Amino acid sequence: MSHRVTLIPGDGIGPELIAAVRRTLEATGVAFEWDLQPAGAECVPTEGTPLPPRVLDSLRANRVGLKGPITTPVGTGFRSVNVELRRALDLYVNLRPAKTYPGVPRPIHDVDLVLVRENTEDLYMGLEFERGSTAVAELSALVERHAGRTFPLDAGVSLKPISVSGTRRVVRFALEHARSHDRRHVTVGHKANIMKYTDGLFLEVAREEARGYPDVAFDDVIVDNLCLQLVQRPQQYDVLVLPNLYGDIISDLCAGLVGGLGVAPGANLGDGIAVFEPVHGSAPAFQGSGRMNPTALLLSATLMLRHLGERTVADRLERAVARVLVEGRAVTRDLKPPSAADQGATTEEMADAVIAAFRAGLAC
Ligand code: NAD
Repeated sequence: MSHRVTLIPGDGIGPELIAAVRRTLEATGVAFEWDLQPAGAECVPTEGTPLPPRVLDSLRANRVGLKGPITTPVGTGFRSVNVELRRALDLYVNLRPAKTYPGVPRPIHDVDLVLVRENTEDLYMGLEFERGSTAVAELSALVERHAGRTFPLDAGVSLKPISVSGTRRVVRFALEHARSHDRRHVTVGHKANIMKYTDGLFLEVAREEARGYPDVAFDDVIVDNLCLQLVQRPQQYDVLVLPNLYGDIISDLCAGLVGGLGVAPGANLGDGIAVFEPVHGSAPAFQGSGRMNPTALLLSATLMLRHLGERTVADRLERAVARVLVEGRAVTRDLKPPSAADQGATTEEMADAVIAAFRAGLAC
């Protein structure tokens, strides 16, 4: 059976990474029917937007997408193309595994956790009011009426809505994911001691949901302590579930623990719809270098293969990537020790090595 997948090369370093990963996926023998959908900076002159409606239509029809990063251009009306895409398709889960692969230079060993970030609410909703605006004056008066004190009129204001329904669905996903992926422990990160009606709600709803999963251990941690614990003893965590902003920040911290953005995959998931993409952005300064690390997108592609029911191929492809990483020869510069004199492999050379390891069925 052929899988029809929306393929979004993105911009910056996206197209060169997508080309290498597409070639690798085709070499696995799985049949794909790619629905190529350009998005990003190149679409602005011709279509007036970096996110043309045809891209969303294609994803709605195909239900699965593989996406390169997209630069957020200044002054097009979107705060972020990526945030808008997640909002428009209600991709409410952002799944970001962080796993140590031997061979990758990293500060800490034996990390294997999955971060589940709420993807649609919180400060990312873009409900912002500029300092000096009428809206800020009205908000200030409203707050004074309800709270008996208010904020200065020269403040800018960003709203942080966190809902019961939005929290329930992402926490339920984390608990189900733990169950179905042989993980045994879910931890919710929050700042409920300070923000009782937002983070407090997130924690309360998470506790309620966890009662329905007695086979999954559940606890919580204040997010600043979580940063400390992750740096000192990340092995104590299995599945983390976090509101949007903390999830964004902590997932970069987790990427750093396992070797950097070049090895950090991700998936945006909704009900019956999924878009797979690396955690990293479009790194415009490196566009055209042909030397960026394809690992994050390759590992995102293994998540996609599993989602498509191609578990055996996904496992074999992940083992092939792991083999290339542990050998350390055909890897890009960011995966070489800082003292290494050579330039490292090109993106395409690294993909060639992964394809060869896949074909040979080599395990690390
Ligand atoms: P970035 O992730 O693009 O780059 C930060 C640094 O990480 C780079 O300078 C590079 O040193 C390193 N890096 C990133 N990807 C790498 C790879 N594959 N291999 C090796 N090294 C890699 O972050 P940024 O510079 O903050 O963002 C650039 C643009 O990307 C912005 O417009 C931002 O909005 C956008 N962005 C898009 C996404 C997305 O499409 N999902 C995510 C994050 C940022």
